[in-house]
Amino acid sequence: MRLLVVEDERQIASFLERGLKEEGYAVDVVYNGNDALDWTVAVEYDAIVLDVLLPGRDGFSVCRELRARGSTTPVLMLTARDAVDDRVNGLDSGADDYLVKPFAFKELLARLRAVTRRQSDSRTTDLRLADLTLNTLTHTAQRGERRIELTTKEYNLLEFLMRNPNRVLSRTQIAEHVWNLDFVAESNVVDVYIRYLRRKIDDDAGLKLIKTVRGSGYLISDASD
Ligand code: CA
Repeated sequence: MRLLVVEDERQIASFLERGLKEEGYAVDVVYNGNDALDWTVAVEYDAIVLDVLLPGRDGFSVCRELRARGSTTPVLMLTARDAVDDRVNGLDSGADDYLVKPFAFKELLARLRAVTRRQSDSRTTDLRLADLTLNTLTHTAQRGERRIELTTKEYNLLEFLMRNPNRVLSRTQIAEHVWNLDFVAESNVVDVYIRYLRRKIDDDAGLKLIKTVRGSGYLISDASD
């Protein structure tokens, strides 16, 4: 999943970036509200972590503008103090949830999982396709009875595919959700990771789930071909 972190305090921003990357998110960081709005036009994020107190345009205003543009990207707002007005303003401006600073990183992760789950309209922590299950909490997969360990990037890639079953995803779409801007357009990184994933989930199985769509990209589907 790809996240945008909007936070002007550099230390907090880099702490969040590091921590979220360790958890396997692709993360971009911006330091003010206008950049946040620009970037959300360019990139389709899975969620936005948005600080309220920003120079210039504040978090409330950014969120209102996003919603006015029709964006439904989940927004988790960071409020500086436990003021009722801030929380009310945040939710009124269209945020999905808020977190009061200082917060425990674990709680941020839990709330991110919750807002992105809400977005995909499901309460379960498992994604399923045929006999393949992906647990979004433990980041492990299971194919039939076989438990499969995944690296962080493999997990992210499989999660993105499984959240979009039966949909052809271009290499660019995949790269944008699984890698962040540090990702240089090395044309074959997606193919390389698809190969890793296939080795783990498809090689030993009768039904191959990950399919190549020539000239377009990849899709995951339980249709037999
Ligand atoms: Ca701030």
